[in-house]
Amino acid sequence: MNENSKVNSTEVAIIKSTSPSKLITTGIETLGGISAFIEKGDQVFIKINLRVPYGFPVNVNFEALRDLIILCKSAGASQIFIGSFPDHGMKTQSIVNILGIASYIENVGAKLLFLEDQTKYPLIDHAIKDKIVKIPEIILKSDKLIFFNQVSVDPLFKITLSLLNSYSLVPNRYQRIEKVIRNGKDYLLLDQYKQDLISNILDIYTIKKPDLVINDMFYFLEGAGPFVYRDSNLISPGLGIIGRDAIAVDLITQKLLGIDLSSSDILIEARNRKLGITDISNITITGESVENINLKIKFSAYKLEDINIKNTTIKAGRICSGCFKEAYNLLNFIKTYMTKDLKYIKNQCFLAGENPPEPKFLDNIIIFGECAINSTKNHEFRKIQTTTDRNYVENVKGKIKKDYKSQKTTKVKVKTNKRIIEIPGCPPNLYESLYSIQKYYKKSQTPNLSFYNNLIKTFYEKASNPKIKTGD
Ligand code: SF4
Repeated sequence: MNENSKVNSTEVAIIKSTSPSKLITTGIETLGGISAFIEKGDQVFIKINLRVPYGFPVNVNFEALRDLIILCKSAGASQIFIGSFPDHGMKTQSIVNILGIASYIENVGAKLLFLEDQTKYPLIDHAIKDKIVKIPEIILKSDKLIFFNQVSVDPLFKITLSLLNSYSLVPNRYQRIEKVIRNGKDYLLLDQYKQDLISNILDIYTIKKPDLVINDMFYFLEGAGPFVYRDSNLISPGLGIIGRDAIAVDLITQKLLGIDLSSSDILIEARNRKLGITDISNITITGESVENINLKIKFSAYKLEDINIKNTTIKAGRICSGCFKEAYNLLNFIKTYMTKDLKYIKNQCFLAGENPPEPKFLDNIIIFGECAINSTKNHEFRKIQTTTDRNYVENVKGKIKKDYKSQKTTKVKVKTNKRIIEIPGCPPNLYESLYSIQKYYKKSQTPNLSFYNNLIKTFYEKASNPKIKTGD
């Protein structure tokens, strides 16, 4: 049990409701009421998702967030802060401009923090094992931490667990996974990227464990996710899973979706590190019972080749989770937002991973990531052979005189295939990939992509205000 807790950390509430805000209020009530979590005078930090605003429900349910803030105020919280480091180093301001969330939050008595502004929200060092991670002081110094997590499907972890939400408590640069090859270990075979990612996520989680965890599944994206893609399907399970122990809450959330502990590598590692409750028999469930929730959902594609895109062939070699996740998002972006462009691009081939199969055509080959680039240096598609045939006169002579033999031999020229887009990176960055693709095809062939790239530029506005020190 956490210090000062009035709620046993083994309790998890499963709430079903027809109203998103009732999920929260009923769930908290079931666990003993908000005063079991928040005390008078507490400074509260509510960690939400601040992802790229590609549709709903990618971020947070405003209605439910409003009611959570009101509940915290009713318990006597002195200050309530809301925030997160947005994905891909985007600015909070860019997302706020689209969602209009800052004034909404202010009107209900809380404050949205622009955490990347280090002048206002300085980062302080936190030592984890042999590394230093910086985290905003305001989060560390808050009396209570709440994870308010929107659950959707996820290409790497099946669903977006609250543990994944906790990762963006720190700036993007501390979330990046560097490729470190261990002696005698096969990086790709062991999917070392994912192992290192899981280890990093759990390290961050241990910096400051939450006092209250809400997995919001009132709405849920199935099929493709976690963003709204063409293959996404919005369903409304009307569920909330609430408790104090993030691992227990995630375990029960997975269980409701038919995912066992044995197929969740992040929860297995959490169990190995004894970070929370991973034995379901030690969890006291209140509200609905797991058995009564019969939820069948469609998970994301787990093979890149299973993403069907018009005029596009996808071929993957040995690949780790790093390239898989970025390629998954890039391919879904192409499928969702480049529908017109895909009519102009008559044929393209996307290669990822080490030693992908040879493409059938020599035109418009996208090579994604260092492994694909380096391992295909000598592949056949890198060269184009052109032959200089016998000229017209020789051909005519040959037809008139049946026994005429030309003195001219056919010349074969080998040239470098330039109809290739190499996208470097380990793994490549989604937005840099989009720029490379647009640069190759030009605006006339990719009107959709040109539009989105201009929009993305405005999201980033890197160093738009040079006076502000950023923590990306
Ligand atoms: S290039 Fe891609 S597949 Fe290769 S190690 Fe890096 S992330 Fe993994």
